[in-house]
Amino acid sequence: MSYDFNPDSVELFAAHLIGGERVHAGETLKVFRPSDGLEALPIPVADAATVSRAVESADHAFRTSGWADANPLDRAAVLLRWADLIDANRERIARAEAIASSRPIADLMERDMVRATGAVRYFAQWADKVEGQLFAGKAGLSSYAKPEPYGVVGAITPFNFPVIHGIWKSAAPLAVGNAVVLKPSELTPYSSLLVAELAIEAGLPKGLFNIVLGAGATGAELVRHPLVRKVTFTGSSATGARIMAAAAENGTKPVTLELGGKTPQLVLRDVRNLDRVAGNIAAGFLANSGQVCTAGTRLIVPRELLEPLLEKVTVIANGRKAGPTWIAGNTLPPIISEKQAARIDAMLAETRRDGAEVLLGGGRVPEMNGGAYYQPTILSGVPDSSVGYTGEFFGPIMSVYGYDDEEEGIALANHPTYALAASLYTDNLQRAMSLVDRLEAGTVWVNAHGRQPDYATPQGGFNGSGFGKEMGRSGLETFLRSKTVVLNYGE
Ligand code: NAD
Repeated sequence: MSYDFNPDSVELFAAHLIGGERVHAGETLKVFRPSDGLEALPIPVADAATVSRAVESADHAFRTSGWADANPLDRAAVLLRWADLIDANRERIARAEAIASSRPIADLMERDMVRATGAVRYFAQWADKVEGQLFAGKAGLSSYAKPEPYGVVGAITPFNFPVIHGIWKSAAPLAVGNAVVLKPSELTPYSSLLVAELAIEAGLPKGLFNIVLGAGATGAELVRHPLVRKVTFTGSSATGARIMAAAAENGTKPVTLELGGKTPQLVLRDVRNLDRVAGNIAAGFLANSGQVCTAGTRLIVPRELLEPLLEKVTVIANGRKAGPTWIAGNTLPPIISEKQAARIDAMLAETRRDGAEVLLGGGRVPEMNGGAYYQPTILSGVPDSSVGYTGEFFGPIMSVYGYDDEEEGIALANHPTYALAASLYTDNLQRAMSLVDRLEAGTVWVNAHGRQPDYATPQGGFNGSGFGKEMGRSGLETFLRSKTVVLNYGE
C-alpha cells in the first residue's frame, strides 16, 4: 500500500485550543512547506494575554475538574481511549504533520504515530503505580512522602519529531494528574490541535490540555507565567539556557531540558562485520536528514578502517533519495526551512575556511523545486575551534576522525559541551563494558545507534545537552513533586 498523498488535498487547522474551544486570537505568522517552499496555512500567534488565558484555563481545570483526585484507573481509561482515537485518526494526523515538517509520510505512519500512541498507553499503565514512602518513626509519630502533581505543566517542543514530542510531553504529565499547556514549534504547528481535541473526545476534561501557537516569545510567556509550576522543554541548547532564565524571572520553578547533541559514533578495531557497522553509521547521521538531537555526527574510527568503512557509508548515503515528505519512497527529507538551510550553508563554509575537507556532498541537492534539500555530507579535518565542531549543523553532515590508540578515540568521543548520547561499535563485550563507563553521555548505545522502540528506557543529556529524563519511570516522576507529611498521633 502506498502512503503517497496530494498535499493540496489536506485540510489544515491552525488555532489555539483553550478550554476545549478553538481560539484564533493574535497576529498571524506564515508557515511554509519545507518540501516545496510553498506557503501553507498561517497560524495565529499567542501574545501574553492569550497565553495567560490558556494557563488560567488549565489551572482552573486542574483545580475543579477532579482529574488529579480521580481514581488513577479512571485517568488511565481516558488515556487508553485517547490512544485508540489517535490510532483511528492516524492518517489525518500524519498527513497534517507531513505538510509542514521534514517527516516522510511512511515514517510518520509506521514509526512516529506508533511510538506516540505506544507512549500514551505506556503512561496510562503507570497511572496507578505511582508510589510514595513511609518512614520509620517512634511510636505515635509517622511520616510519609506522598507524590502529587504540580498543577499546570508548560511544555515546549521542537520541529523535528512534532507528533512524538507533543504526545510524549502531554501523556506523561496528564497520566499523573497535571494539566498541560503545550506550545509546539511554530514551524510544525498543525497536528497538536487535532491530537488535543481527540483527548477531549476521549473524556479528558476541557481545559486540562490547552495549546498555544506561536514562536519563541509565546514560549517565553508560557515559561514565565506564575501559574506554570513545571516546565518541560525539548530544543536547542541556546534556547534551553533562555528558558532557564525565563523560568527564574517570577521566582523559581523546575525545568526539564532535553537539548542539543554532537553525538560520537566510536568504532573499535575489533569489529568484524563492517557492513552492519556502516549501515548503523549511515542511518545514525542521515535519519530525518540529520535533524535528530542524537544524530551521530562525529565518526571516530581506527585509522586503518577509515577508508573501507567510508566507502561503504558513501554507497549507502548515495542511495538516499531526496524529495517531498508526501511521496513515500523518499528517504532524504527536506531541511525544515530555507533559513535553517542557509544556516547550514554558512556553517559549512566557515568550517571549510577553518581547514576542513569535504569527502562527500558539501551543498544543496540541486533543482528541488523550492524545497531545501541537503546532500549527505562527510567532512574530515574539522578543527576543534571551528563552528563545525562546536555547534550542531542539524543537517545530514558528519565529520570523521581517525585514531591510532584507543585512548585517543575516547578522548575524541567526549565533547567539551554536548553529552547527549554516544554509540560504540565493538565485538568485544568486555571492552564495551569498560568503555561505556568512560563515555560521557546521557545514553550509550553499543552496536546500535538511536532510540530503540521502547518506552521504558529513560533518555536525557548531560552537561550542555540538558538535564532531567523523558520516558520511563523517571520520565513520569519528573511531573510529580513529593509532599512530606508528619503525623503525630501519640497520646
Ligand atoms: P529551538 O530551540 O529553536 O526551538 C524549540 C522550541 O522552543 C520551539 O517551539 C520554539 O518556538 C521555542 N522557543 C524558541 N525560543 C524560545 C524562548 N526564548 N523561550 C521559550 N521557547 C522558545 O529548537 P528547534 O530548532 O525547533 O529544534 C532543534 C533543536 O532541538 C536541536 O538543537 C536538537 O538537538 C534539539 N532536540 C533535542 C532533543 C532531545 O531529546 N535532547 C530532541 C529533539 C531536538
